[in-house]
This record gives sequence, C-alpha cells and structure tokens, in this order.
Amino acid sequence: VDRLTDKTALVTGSSRGIGRATAIRLAREGALVAVHYTANEQAANDTVELIEKEGGSAFTVRAELGVPGDVHELFLGLERGLKERTGDTRLDILVNNAAVTSTGSAPEDLTPEEFDHYFAVNAKAPYFIVQRALGQMPSGGRIVNLTTGVTRTSVPDQVAYAMTKGAIEQLTFQLARILAPRGITINSVAPGITNNGGPIFDNPQAVEAMAKFSAFNRVGEAGDVADVITFLTTDEARWITGAFIDATGGTLLG
Ligand code: NDP
Repeated sequence: VDRLTDKTALVTGSSRGIGRATAIRLAREGALVAVHYTANEQAANDTVELIEKEGGSAFTVRAELGVPGDVHELFLGLERGLKERTGDTRLDILVNNAAVTSTGSAPEDLTPEEFDHYFAVNAKAPYFIVQRALGQMPSGGRIVNLTTGVTRTSVPDQVAYAMTKGAIEQLTFQLARILAPRGITINSVAPGITNNGGPIFDNPQAVEAMAKFSAFNRVGEAGDVADVITFLTTDEARWITGAFIDATGGTLLG
C-alpha cells in the first residue's frame, strides 16, 4: 500500500466490474480516483462509498462515451473534481477501461450503426481521452488500456469487438515510444473471462463452462485483473511500456 500517494487517477467505467475493482485498489494505494460512469449513478456512488469506507478519496464523473462532445464532458467533470481537491488538474494515471462488451448481434447480422458504436466507445473515445489527458500528465504518468484475450484467439461472435480492441493495442504500441521521452508508460492489459457482476456469473452451469477456458479452471475475479492494472501504475513498473500483458489466467495457452 501507499505506492500511489499524492497521485491522481481516472478510471473510465469504474461504476462496476474490473473498473470498480481497479478504482478501489488505486485508492488503497493512496491515489485520488475519479470514478467515471454513464448510466449507473448509484453504482458509481457505491464505488466512491466503498473507497471512502477504507479511508481513500474518490469522486464521480458522468459522461457518455461514443457521442459528440464526450471527451470534453468527461474532462470538464474530471478537472472540476481534481481542482476542488488538489488545487490543479494534474492527472498521473489514466485507465481506459470503459467499453461496450456485450456480444450484440452475430457477425452476419451486425449493422453499420452497431459497428460504429463499438468503434466510437471502444477505440475512438480512448484515443481522444489519451490525447486530452496528455495535456495534464506529468513525468511518471501511466496509461493502461484494457484489451482482451480475444485479440489472440478466434471467437466467432466477437469479430467487431475484437477489431476495436486490436485498435487499442495499436494505440498502446504506437504511443509507447512517443511517450517514453516524457517518462510516461502506456500498456495494454488483456483479461480473459472475468466476473464483472453480470447476471451470467450467477448461473453455476455457465460459470463452470466458462471456467474451463482458464488454465486455473475458474473464471477471473475483477480483482485478479485490477491487481495487474494497479501494478502497472506504480513506480515498480517503470521499465514496462508498449506491452501486451496477458491477464487471462492462462486462457491463451490453449
Ligand atoms: P462492465 O461491462 O462490467 O462495465 C462497463 C463499464 O463501462 C461500466 O462502468 C459502464 O458504465 C462503462 N461504460 C460502458 N459503455 C459506456 C459508454 N458508452 N460511455 C461511458 N461509460 C460506459 O465491464 P467489464 O468489467 O466486464 O470490462 C472492463 C474492461 O475489460 C472492458 O474494456 C472490457 O472490454 C475488458 N474485458 C472484460 C472481460 C470480461 O470478461 N469481463 C474480458 C476481456 C476484456 P455504467 O455502469 O454507467 O453503464
């Protein structure tokens, strides 16, 4: 603990799932965390409450990603929250976690509108969030982008989703060399099947079937992935940049 004292962090999509678990861990390490969400205000408030109960600091920021003006709205809320609490708008840590994850339509039925929505939320928004964040990120800054093991294995019903995450991995890879002179690292973390609190994880048979994908024969917990993300934000991970970090519990071993 306390590896992130005096740091500030934005975790997109931290009302629930992996984002929430990450927000909690970053706060545990001493960071002031902006808990971003779009629809689930109560869940975002609960994340902040969980953090404050442990003695940490956090505030919520609402912004729908994937629509015009999204990044501006996000940063208005972020900067207001940071300024109130720290006196300036410095952002040390950015975790691009929010994404459209639902399978949606089968590849043969996917509409151009659904395709555009996937890319707007999962690829375009993170790009412009990074662009905007870099204006207020000092040396020692950390960017972590959530991808998926699906970019390394063929999953028939997730073609468009996997394409958006392939784009995120390129964002990481291409920016790493550009940001290194500024002392900023950027990495991708790829979860496998991870319990995000969604209804399917209440179905024991479905969970048993999903567990088989991992070498450890269980589904991941949000904390399993959040611990990896948190490590990448610390000084201990200063020598890692541009990496694809496999946090799939051995799913990609085949
Ligand atoms: P969840 O589906 O549990 O939560 C998604 C989060 O993103 C929520 O906080 C949600 O906010 C927010 N969000 C979704 N769409 C938008 C939008 N248009 N604008 C703003 N916020 C939005 O996510 P997971 O924890 O399952 O996944 C987190 C990351 O990990 C994602 O990038 C995902 O692709 C990746 N991943 C997850 C896996 C898994 O098995 N869970 C496997 C591989 C990768 P709100 O609550 O307000 O709706």
